[in-house]
Amino acid sequence: MNNTGLPGKPPEFSTPPTDDIPEALRETAVASPRPRFKLPFWGWGLIGVAIALILGMVVSWQSAQVGTTAQAANGAAAQTGLQSALITQQLNVPDSLLGHLPYEEAPADDLQSVVADNSIKLRPIAAAQFLDLLEAARADGVVIVPISGFRSIADQEQVFFGIKAQQGESPTERAEVSAPPGYSEHHTGYAVDIVDGEQSETDLEISFEGTEAFRWMQQNAARFNFELSFPRDNAEGISYEPWHWRFVGDRHSLETFFKARQLAGSNQE
Ligand SMILES: [Zn+2]
Repeated sequence: MNNTGLPGKPPEFSTPPTDDIPEALRETAVASPRPRFKLPFWGWGLIGVAIALILGMVVSWQSAQVGTTAQAANGAAAQTGLQSALITQQLNVPDSLLGHLPYEEAPADDLQSVVADNSIKLRPIAAAQFLDLLEAARADGVVIVPISGFRSIADQEQVFFGIKAQQGESPTERAEVSAPPGYSEHHTGYAVDIVDGEQSETDLEISFEGTEAFRWMQQNAARFNFELSFPRDNAEGISYEPWHWRFVGDRHSLETFFKARQLAGSNQE
């Protein structure tokens, strides 16, 4: 007993839905695959304006780039100028450490002893003139004794850090009386420390300036091309060392101490 009075399917549903669409419309829908968007006339105008804007932006960006490149070139030129200035400055203001200038170590096979036991050595030309100096002093009745000449950078490590550790001084305090390794004139083979053979209580003391040896050096050292490295109030700010002298009698030694001598010269004004 199921709804016998009614048909199995209502007629509305048996009809395909497409039948409801008019023939003409259906054909049109099939014929044109997609409805095309039609740009209104003012749309082209907008696109034109947009292209013009983009082109304008590209052109101005490019000129900006050119400008930036020019600026970079100017900057590079300025920097080159700055570098030259810095290099010039470095020639005048040396790269010192705690007041000391850097020095190269003399070659070990280019040294000559100035004492009998070979424990104190200088560069040959400095050694020869120093031996002449000792002899001339002795002839004047003055006993000058060398106590230190060439020192390797390793030797100076001991002098600087060894004594520093013992005395508990800071590197800055220590640097007032001793050069850091790599910065001692003793590395060059041109520097020598001397004492008065008859007044050992003045060894490595400021009081050495009161000895016969020091007075003799002041009067005669220049004849043998030696000069005091660290006079009172020297430009490097290193403690006065009346016992420390350096050879400046040839081109290499003069070049070696060029910066120091330049500083000393500028300090004399
Ligand atoms: Zn010295």
